[in-house]
Amino acid sequence: MVLAATLFASPIAATARPSSPAHVHPHHPSSRPDAVLRVTFFDVGQGDAVLLQAPEGQTALVDAGRGSDIVPLLRDLGVERIDLMVATHPHADHIGGMAGVIESIPVRFFMDNGAPHTTATYRGLIAALQARPEITYLEATPRTISLGSATIEVLPLLPRGGAEHNDRSITLVLRFGDFTALLSGDSEVRQLTHLTGLGVVPALTLLKAPHHGSDNGFTWDFLQAARPRVVVISVGRNNSYGHPRQAALDAYAATARETFRTDLHGHLQVRGYGDGSYVVVQGDQVASVRTGGWRRGMEAVATGAATAGSAARAHTSHAQLRIRVRADAPGNDHQNPNGEYAVLENSAAEAISIGGWRLCDLANHCFQFPAGATIEGGGRVVVHTGSGQPDGGRFYMGRRQAVWNNDGDTATLYDSKGATVLAFSY
Ligand SMILES: [Zn+2]
Repeated sequence: MVLAATLFASPIAATARPSSPAHVHPHHPSSRPDAVLRVTFFDVGQGDAVLLQAPEGQTALVDAGRGSDIVPLLRDLGVERIDLMVATHPHADHIGGMAGVIESIPVRFFMDNGAPHTTATYRGLIAALQARPEITYLEATPRTISLGSATIEVLPLLPRGGAEHNDRSITLVLRFGDFTALLSGDSEVRQLTHLTGLGVVPALTLLKAPHHGSDNGFTWDFLQAARPRVVVISVGRNNSYGHPRQAALDAYAATARETFRTDLHGHLQVRGYGDGSYVVVQGDQVASVRTGGWRRGMEAVATGAATAGSAARAHTSHAQLRIRVRADAPGNDHQNPNGEYAVLENSAAEAISIGGWRLCDLANHCFQFPAGATIEGGGRVVVHTGSGQPDGGRFYMGRRQAVWNNDGDTATLYDSKGATVLAFSY
């Protein structure tokens, strides 16, 4: 974008260092096991708006939706400054909300793919940038940018003029220890083939489905390289494009463990940890991140409810499930593992069958419920950390040491297909 390039004094950010993508090593985060990188996919209808929050608080906003005001959503997540704003490509469903953000929240660096567009939306974005000369412009050349203890790698673009806007979407690889994510705007087959051919697509924890889950937004070579564990599709309800397409959904189902969609689940937040584990939080629960989720006070048993309300859109029959965790057993936790337990409550009238479901902590210590396990209507089951004889209402993980972190943890319940039913953070 020649116009914007002349607006900013420094084309290269102090935090950016040019780097060959092939030689970037994962940055290993601090030893804090609870350090978390948050990747939030806002439900902005048909469009993309993705917020990255480093453990140390730095933020990057990748696209900003068509124009629905995401400023309140950003504020809900405690965002007071955008360190890096990225316009993956100049289509309105990606840049439409940017001017509003720029006018409301300080932005340090702005990156685009250097290709101007003719629309009023694009001109509005340029005008907003021109009014903020303190924002430093970055063109999307291959480089690695630090975002706290996470890194953002910018992958090579197809040549300017040689591809349509979608196929010049800025593609970012986000790394935090062993957690890896890839965001690539509306890339289609041509760009995905280009990236795969360059060998720059790493194995992923998280993939944002390219091009809203269109059937031109994946190739099998790309997915075989990426091998994502979780896919998030940012897509509008009943959109006129027919996104997501069944062929893409089938491809993700064949290659990833789980797929989430903003049209079905609302806002989605993937919390990535340095050991490569992750938790997906849905809907209203995302906003609780502002305070770090529910924090245990003087009481021994958490009374905060997990978020079944939001999970309910995808898992209607499980809307009445709640998880509580008693993390702090009397005495030394490790000597009293049965004093530590998780409680699953069912406030619906009907029983819920949980055979084959798993309950896991953040470190992926999991308990699988035996076949036939149920929670009666209005009933509960208790999962103790230690050993004992299960009786249908009480289950035992069989561990000798405490599992649930006293300082905060997340209990995630997966169904027998591995889909997240709900997650409770404290
Ligand atoms: Zn789009």
